[in-house]
Amino acid sequence: MLSPTSAVVEDETWEKMFVQGVDEKSLKDYLFKITSYDHVAGTLGDLRSTNFVKNRLESSLRDTPALVEVEAVPVMLSYPISRQLRMTEPVEFNASLSETILPNDATSDNVWRNLSFNAYSPSGNVSAQLVYANYGDPDDFVALEKLGVSVEGKIVIVRYGSTFRGLKVMNAERRGAIGCIIYSDPEDDGYQRGPTYPDGPWRPKQAVQRGSVQFNSLCAGDPARKYSKKSTMDLCGYAVEDLIPSIPVLPISYEDAAPLLQNLDAAPLLQNLVTPGDLPPGFQGGLPFKYATGPGPAHVNLLVNNKFEARRVWNVFATIPSGNFGTADDKLVLAGNHRDAWVYGAADPNSGTAALLEMARVLGDMLRKGWKPKRTIVLCNWDGEEYGLLGSTAWGEKRAKELSSKSVVYLNVDVGVAGPHLSVHASPFLSPVITNVSRMFVDPATGQPLDRAWDGAIGTLGSGSDYTVFLDHLGIPSVDLSWRHNTSAYGVYHSVYDSFSYMVQQVDPDFRYHALCTRFWGVTLLRFSDSALLPYDPKSLAGALNKYLLYVKSMMNATVCRGQCSEIFKVVKQEGSGVFPLDLSELEEAVSGFTTAASSPALQQAIASCRQEGACSKRLLLRLNEAMRRTERAFLDPAGLPGRKWFRHILQAPGLYLGYGADMFPGICQAIRDGDAKLAQEQATRCAGVVKHASSVLMSWQQDREVVT
Ligand code: GLU
Ligand code: ZN
Ligand code: ZN
Repeated sequence: MLSPTSAVVEDETWEKMFVQGVDEKSLKDYLFKITSYDHVAGTLGDLRSTNFVKNRLESSLRDTPALVEVEAVPVMLSYPISRQLRMTEPVEFNASLSETILPNDATSDNVWRNLSFNAYSPSGNVSAQLVYANYGDPDDFVALEKLGVSVEGKIVIVRYGSTFRGLKVMNAERRGAIGCIIYSDPEDDGYQRGPTYPDGPWRPKQAVQRGSVQFNSLCAGDPARKYSKKSTMDLCGYAVEDLIPSIPVLPISYEDAAPLLQNLDAAPLLQNLVTPGDLPPGFQGGLPFKYATGPGPAHVNLLVNNKFEARRVWNVFATIPSGNFGTADDKLVLAGNHRDAWVYGAADPNSGTAALLEMARVLGDMLRKGWKPKRTIVLCNWDGEEYGLLGSTAWGEKRAKELSSKSVVYLNVDVGVAGPHLSVHASPFLSPVITNVSRMFVDPATGQPLDRAWDGAIGTLGSGSDYTVFLDHLGIPSVDLSWRHNTSAYGVYHSVYDSFSYMVQQVDPDFRYHALCTRFWGVTLLRFSDSALLPYDPKSLAGALNKYLLYVKSMMNATVCRGQCSEIFKVVKQEGSGVFPLDLSELEEAVSGFTTAASSPALQQAIASCRQEGACSKRLLLRLNEAMRRTERAFLDPAGLPGRKWFRHILQAPGLYLGYGADMFPGICQAIRDGDAKLAQEQATRCAGVVKHASSVLMSWQQDREVVT
C-alpha cells in the first residue's frame, strides 16, 4: 500500500517520464512519412495513411495490454471533376485555378494542385454579373442592400475569413445568388501579413483554400448520415439538401480574384452620395486598388463539376485499458486528432497526428515499465474531418450512451503546430488544469515560462474540429490545443503548400513546438487518466456562467453585433427604447444558485481533501468525481437549440452565422438577434431550468443516492 505522499510522487514520476520521453526526431519522422503523399478523405492515400497510423500504434504499443482497431465508416463524400471560371465582360479573363509548382517545394507538383474545390458544392454552370460581398456575413449583405445592391440572380464573390465558409454560401443563396466564389484576400492571410511562402509563412498569390461548404452551424457530421439507421431529419431536424449548398461554389486564389474585383464598379446609388465610390466600412481588402461592390460590369461564367460519392473513411483507435477496464466503474479519457488532409496537411492536421503517434510511443514505453492508468485512455485518429467532422461525429453518435456515461474529458489537437503561439479553447470547467499544465513548460523560442509567453486566455469552443460532437452533442468537457500565429489564420491553410517543406522551412524546423504540443497534450491526458480526483473546477464553471449572463445582457443592449444580427433585431430594440425586452431574473437566480453550490465551503473542502490521494474516503472521492463529471452533461437540453436540435449544450454552440466562433447561451442570444422576444423569453426560462438542474447534479456529491441525469 502506498502512502499518500509516495502516490503523489509516483504520479509526478510518470509525468516526468512522459515529458522526457518525447523526442523531436521521432516527431519529425512521423510527420515526414505521413506527409509524403496526399491523403484526402476516402482516397487510396487516406487508406495508406490509415494503415500507417495503425501500424505505428501497434508497434508502439506492442507487449502492452493496449488494443488497436480500425473502424470503417460509410459516408457521403464529394470530389472535383472539372472547373472553369471565365470573365466574359468587360474584358476576357480565364482564371488559372492552378497552384504553381514552387522550386523550393517539390511536393507542390501534385494532381490536387489543379483540382481545388469546395466539398459538397453541387455541380452547376452559371453566368451572371458579379457582386462583391466582403466576408459574406449577414451584415455585409445588409450593407449591400442599403446601397441598393441586390445579389438576386448574381454570382457573389466573398473573401475567406471571419466566418466558416459554408455559412457565407448559405447567406448568399438565401438572398438569391446563383453562384458563389470564395477567395483568399492578401489582407487576411497573404502579403499584408508578411512575406509569402517560400520567403515567409504567409499565403502566396496562387494558393487556394479548399474546404467543405456544408452548413456547419446547423448540424455536424455526414449530411447524408450513411453510417446511421437514423435519418438526418431525425438527428439534425434537416433534410440533407438543407445542410449543403444548392448553388455552385468555387474557391480561388488572390491572383485569380484580382482581375475580377478590379472590374467591379461602385454601386449606382453610391454615385449619388457625397463621396462617390465609397465602400461600406470594412469592405476594402489588401489588393492594390480600390475595391467596389458591383454588380458588374464584370460578368462571369462559373462551371463546377463535382461528384457526390458514397465511400468509406477510417477511424483508428488505440485503447489503453485501466485496471477497471470493462467494469461499471471504468471511465474513459479521450484524446483525438484527425488524419485526413486537403492535400498533404503538414500543419492541418498531421502536426497533431505526429503528436498523437509520439504520445502513443511514449505511453507504450511507460506501460512496459509498469505504468497503469486509473482510467481507460482512448487515442482516436479521426477521418473525414475536413468534410464536416464525419468520423468523430459518427463515432460519438453511435456510442452516445456509453460515451456520456463514461467519458471524463475529450482532448483535441487538430492543427497542432502552425506557428509559435499557444491557443487554447476549452470548457471553462477545465481552465485551471490547463493553466497548471502550462506552468510546467517554457516557450522553446524565447525560453520564457509558457504561462507567461502565452496570453493565458482560454477561448470558448465554437466548432470547426472534432470536439464538436463530444461537447455540443454529448456534454463531455473538451479542450482544443493549437500553436498558431497571432491569429488563427495561417498562410498555406488548406492549400497544396501545407507540406513538410513548409513546416521545416517556415514553422518548426527543429520540431520543438511539436514536442511542446505533445508534452502539453500528454501531461493534460495524464492528469485526467491518473489523478484520483478529476481536475475539474466548478468555480471556474460558475465564473463562466456569470460571464455568459453578462454577454446575454450586452446582447440585449447592443446596437451592433457584427455578422450575426438580423435587421428585425434593430427594429425590436428601437421599439423597446433601446433595450431588448427580456426578463432574465429566473436565469440570474439559477446562475447565482449554481455559483453558491460551486463555491460552497463544504464542496471546496471536499475537493481540497480529495486532491491529496488517500486523504479522503474512496466513497467521497467517487461521489465527487461522478457529481462533477455529470455536471457538464447536465447542461444539455434534450430538445436542443431552437432550429438546430443536434446542438444540445445550452452554454455554448457555434454561432449560427459564425460556424467557427462561439455563441454563449446561444438559444437566448440567437433569439435576441432574430428579434424574437417570445422565443428569447422561452429560452431564458428553459436555460434557468437547466442551470438549476445542473446545480442539483453538482450538489449530489453530498448525497449517497445519485441524482439521475
Ligand atoms: N475543419 C474543417 C474546416 O474548417 C471542417 C470544419 C467543420 O465542418 O465544422 O473546413
Ligand atoms: Zn484540421
Ligand atoms: Zn482543415
